[in-house]
Amino acid sequence: MKLLVALGGNAIKQAHEAGTTAEQFENCEKTAEQLAGIVSEFGPDDWLAITHGNGPQSGNLSVQMEAAKDLVPVQTLDVIGAMTQGQIGYMLQNTMQKHLKARGVDIDVIAVINQVLVDPDDPEFSGDTASKPVGNFFTADEARALKAQHPEYVVKEVKPGAEKGWRRCVPSPIPSVNVEARAIQQILTDGIIVIASGGGGIPVMQDDKGDYQGLEAVIDKDRAGEVMAQAIGADTFMMLTDVEHALLNFGKPDAAPIGEVTVAKAQQLAAEGHFLPGSMGPKMASAIKFVQEGGARAIISSLDKAVEALEGKTGTIILP
Ligand code: ADP
Ligand code: MG
Repeated sequence: MKLLVALGGNAIKQAHEAGTTAEQFENCEKTAEQLAGIVSEFGPDDWLAITHGNGPQSGNLSVQMEAAKDLVPVQTLDVIGAMTQGQIGYMLQNTMQKHLKARGVDIDVIAVINQVLVDPDDPEFSGDTASKPVGNFFTADEARALKAQHPEYVVKEVKPGAEKGWRRCVPSPIPSVNVEARAIQQILTDGIIVIASGGGGIPVMQDDKGDYQGLEAVIDKDRAGEVMAQAIGADTFMMLTDVEHALLNFGKPDAAPIGEVTVAKAQQLAAEGHFLPGSMGPKMASAIKFVQEGGARAIISSLDKAVEALEGKTGTIILP
């Protein structure tokens, strides 16, 4: 099996936690234990690549920077992306090493800093369309002050009616190319576990000379995961989140789990609007794209069911 696992936010920080280093390591331990179990069954040609979200970590980092902005300059979002790739990559690498060793599995693990190409003409960059909320929540007054200080920011009311209902929103463009894919594939072929495309990758564009330039944007980690899965030749793309299945009629009394479906059926369900934008929507869209473009199967399930989902016993499984 050539497996890419995309880890959701809950693999590193639970929603109710503050996000201390100890808490995040504890979550990574549980994640690493699951993944090490999968790797311990691998044959000589099998490999594992890992990607992960960074929403809570980049949010916290932005809050820290904003609070200290009179002492130290705020960094751009591409740099914040790189910082959190390092932060989370370290924690996953460290805990994976520990759990592989505990199982007597002698496989190396490495996290890489990874850029992902987007189109600077993506509609998300124009006007007020930017759709991804980041950082703190603000009151209407605070939102106006932020906008006055940073006229280039898109600041939107994301929770209408709430006292602090405003947030900065940044573009979430569609990813096209994983810039370091060839190097990642080479490392995987050497039998090493690679952690890459963290937080959806560092968003970059190519300038007139073909050089990469960072952008103020955030890429959806499942969409970027799909781009990487294809580029590195994964046969299985598994997105692990906080639900065991994608549901039909999500949020309604007749909600029902989706098991094994064909890509055609998944497309029909997506068109019917069962999967919300910003959460299950991009997961299902990425699953569909992966299988349509030649992947053997895409899986959506929860972290604690990863092994059973790979065995086909649970989870939402999208097949050609
Ligand atoms: P992650 O950090 O793993 O990407 P998300 O919050 O983005 O997690 O996505 C998982 C969430 O998607 C679920 O907790 C649920 O609230 C939401 N969701 C939206 N539509 C559906 C659906 N049809 N079935 C199940 N969950 C859904
Ligand atoms: Mg998500």
